[in-house]
Amino acid sequence: MDIIEKIKKLKEKKNAVILAHYYVEPKVQEIADYIGDSFYLSKIAVGLQEQTIVFCGVSFMGESAKILNPQKTVLMPDMSADCAMAHMADVETIRKMRDTYEDLAVVCYINSTAELKQHSDVCVTSANAVKIVKALPNKNIFFIPDKNLAHYVAEQVPEKHFVFNKGFCPVHENMCLEEVLKAKEEHPEAEVLTHPECPEAICKISDYIGSTSGIIRYAGTSEKKEFIICTESGVRFQLEKENPDKKFYFTKTEPVCRDMKLVTLEKIAHVLETGENEVHVTEELRIESEKALSKMLELAK
Ligand code: SF4
Repeated sequence: MDIIEKIKKLKEKKNAVILAHYYVEPKVQEIADYIGDSFYLSKIAVGLQEQTIVFCGVSFMGESAKILNPQKTVLMPDMSADCAMAHMADVETIRKMRDTYEDLAVVCYINSTAELKQHSDVCVTSANAVKIVKALPNKNIFFIPDKNLAHYVAEQVPEKHFVFNKGFCPVHENMCLEEVLKAKEEHPEAEVLTHPECPEAICKISDYIGSTSGIIRYAGTSEKKEFIICTESGVRFQLEKENPDKKFYFTKTEPVCRDMKLVTLEKIAHVLETGENEVHVTEELRIESEKALSKMLELAK
């Protein structure tokens, strides 16, 4: 029996569903029941019929799925797959900011640990951050952990006062402006589509800025035939699948999230078979961090 057949059988036997982020390996995306970015996956995780969720992504995603679905079993194919940015803020600074600013809303990008969510007022994703910050009654916003997304949102919501944190996604932060400019030179007809986790200098020369799903949607509806994509290169699989007549270019140094690539078909089969790598969140942490996630889902409706 090949590995795909094995996964299908195990899925049925264990009443399981497979969720995969756009940045995991194409082979994994191919066998997933649902593929998407953090926002889509966190929404879809709520209300699934299956008892077991296999989350093909990094740890904060599995954690969020468990927080929103405490009665379900959430399995991670690789427990060591983590997001560096998820840890780039601290509770002490949050407390300090709350003491400094009256009327402060702590807005937490979903790419963060449950502990950071627990101390935040609302979660956001790159797809809904602008909408949610606009909807908040608070004037002062402490946006954690990503400084680049924070600056992007601050520009769209000038009526609010932002306090910036120093976190960043190493994959997007290390994208090189010169390489994007070189790609533009080589493909003058191409539009530049950029994730807001990229540095401001790259956002400034972009034709479109949006979440991974936003980028996929834009490329599909644009009349243009060529695109320079400034985000993690795993998204190429979906872009090419949905748009076989279009061309997609990445920077010379391809942006790759090594943690997302830790998920393999063999590891998926293994956790389905053994039930290993189950995500556990203490009840106290779950209840506290669920508030910020649920508020996001409510405000994003
Ligand atoms: S691409 Fe960046 S934000 Fe996404 S999981 Fe990897 S390190 Fe985290």
